[in-house]
Amino acid sequence: MTVRLVIFGRQGAGKGTQCLNIVNTYGVAHISTGDMLRAAVKAGTEMGRRAKAVMDAGELVGDEIINGIVAERLAEPDAAGPGFVLDGFPRTRPQAEALLEILGNDRLDAVINLDVPLEEVTARMKGRGRADDTDEAIARRLALYEEETFPVLEFFAEKGLLVTVDGLGTEEEVSSRLIAAVNDHLP
Ligand code: AMP
Repeated sequence: MTVRLVIFGRQGAGKGTQCLNIVNTYGVAHISTGDMLRAAVKAGTEMGRRAKAVMDAGELVGDEIINGIVAERLAEPDAAGPGFVLDGFPRTRPQAEALLEILGNDRLDAVINLDVPLEEVTARMKGRGRADDTDEAIARRLALYEEETFPVLEFFAEKGLLVTVDGLGTEEEVSSRLIAAVNDHLP
């Protein structure tokens, strides 16, 4: 069986941990566009050089570039066979439309919204005490996420694919809730 998922979650919602649980449960490929771009920056590729300026400015890399990267990645055997969990993509409505086009007749099983309230993720991030976690930076990143993501979540809700999972609780609680929700959506 091929399992095709997309996951959304605010920074601090525990998305990284839950992606690992999804990978361990279904054997799918974890595809993070942020990770792929950071790898390209590190490798100093042409694309990486161009992406770096955009990423440093906190902007989004162009849809065409990112859609191309994702299309290539999804065609690789580890994603095309077992399936994938997409993380950080799609971030705009054109990207969401491109994803469905790339998939063609292959349906997405579910789009997971790992939901942790704004106040809770703000408190969690302040607790981390990282240098770039000033109150303003946290508020700005979370506001951007809201702006960016809302239309994309709406797009998938209209298609009947959106599954909201309560992200409050222990890692195990959230994980079993999430896996149960995904299982409900598998054929
Ligand atoms: P992330 O780790 O997902 O927050 O991604 C880090 C940065 O990479 C973002 O701030 C964007 O500049 C860029 N990026 C990652 N994914 C995308 C995407 N789907 N579309 C455009 N830019 C992206």
